[in-house]
Amino acid sequence: MKSRRDFLQKLTASMVTLPFMPLDSLAAPADNLQLEHADETPYAGPVLRVALMGLGGYANRVADAMRACKKAKLVGLVTGTPAKKNDWQTRFYIPEKNCYNYSDFDKMANNPDIDAVYVTTPNGLHHDQVIRVANAGKHVICEKPMAINAKEGQEMVDICKKKNVKLLVGYRMHLEPKTLEIIRMRKAGEFGKVQFFQGLSGFTIGDPTQWRLNKQLAGGGAMMDIGIYSINGARYMLGEDPIWVTAQETKTNPVKFAVGVDETIQFQLGFPSGAVASCLSTYNMNFLDRFFLTGEKGFAELNPSTGYGPIMGRTHKGELAFRHVTHQTVQMEEFSDIILNGKQPTVPVDGEEGVKDLKIIDAIYQAVKEGKKVNIKW
Ligand code: NAD
Repeated sequence: MKSRRDFLQKLTASMVTLPFMPLDSLAAPADNLQLEHADETPYAGPVLRVALMGLGGYANRVADAMRACKKAKLVGLVTGTPAKKNDWQTRFYIPEKNCYNYSDFDKMANNPDIDAVYVTTPNGLHHDQVIRVANAGKHVICEKPMAINAKEGQEMVDICKKKNVKLLVGYRMHLEPKTLEIIRMRKAGEFGKVQFFQGLSGFTIGDPTQWRLNKQLAGGGAMMDIGIYSINGARYMLGEDPIWVTAQETKTNPVKFAVGVDETIQFQLGFPSGAVASCLSTYNMNFLDRFFLTGEKGFAELNPSTGYGPIMGRTHKGELAFRHVTHQTVQMEEFSDIILNGKQPTVPVDGEEGVKDLKIIDAIYQAVKEGKKVNIKW
């Protein structure tokens, strides 16, 4: 393992003068290779000291990716499971004084060695946990969806502002090179007037007892978990926020997908420029991770568009050849710069951005319920 990784790192280092070489074929996301940090340039700037809350699947991915970070460091944890605490302390060298559970993490207020908490618990818990972290005076990074409706999201934004802490949402695609290239091309007018976006987001969900199928913990169904990628993608690909929504729901299994837990929703978004988006969100179909955008002069396609990578992309000009980067490593490096140095990302990753997606989700659920077009006021 070590030798393969060393080989790839050396190989990548030797290619630094060719930053746009298509290295995708080298990238193996299953190995979680952190190729972007192949250079050993010393870093002496500020480091964001992070505690992870909710040590599940995604937290493990983030923690592993953070091993390659220079500007962010995993220093603490919040868990309700003593066995996980011990395991993580060993794996990530986390001192006892930086370990908390769900009852006592407010005490972090007295811990000067933690700057920020990254909340990776089920969606329905984010609101209360983020507010408690803000009240403890720590910056917050919250996973998507940041809450289960726009009202909750706005409360989180307001409290973080009041407490003078930053609130960021784990929108890793906002920092992904192929995605950013399409955004650059759109801004430069290379597609001409953009008229249409299609977003397909879905997978077949397994275990019917998991929290993702529990209305209280998930806040909904596929829309909250995966459909949000098409909503968010429509907004950053088109560079606009929608002013109306229509939506239709299909449910083939009302036992697995109970009331309030959406299985499949097709939705359409209308934008101020006249552009429209047509999207699919589902927990009952596989191989759906595709964005397509077309304008008067050109097109762009990402397929896959939001998975852990490599992201594959092409436009009317040809393949997008940027090397794969581990999304969570880049995200944490950038989030450190945003929190500690006030850096402005190309596409916002703040709480306000998260609330916009929730406002659209609220409107989609309303459109499904009422069976008619819902206007969105900004
Ligand atoms: P998971 O089930 O693997 O982990 C959730 C963690 O929360 C577990 O450690 C669990 O023990 C803990 N937890 C605390 N209180 C709980 C409770 N009352 N009920 C259930 N679990 C509880 O889930 P995950 O896949 O890691 O997802 C966590 C969050 O991260 C979700 O908001 C999800 O949308 C988000 N996520 C984001 C990405 C991304 O690419 N940005 C990918 C996966 C998940």
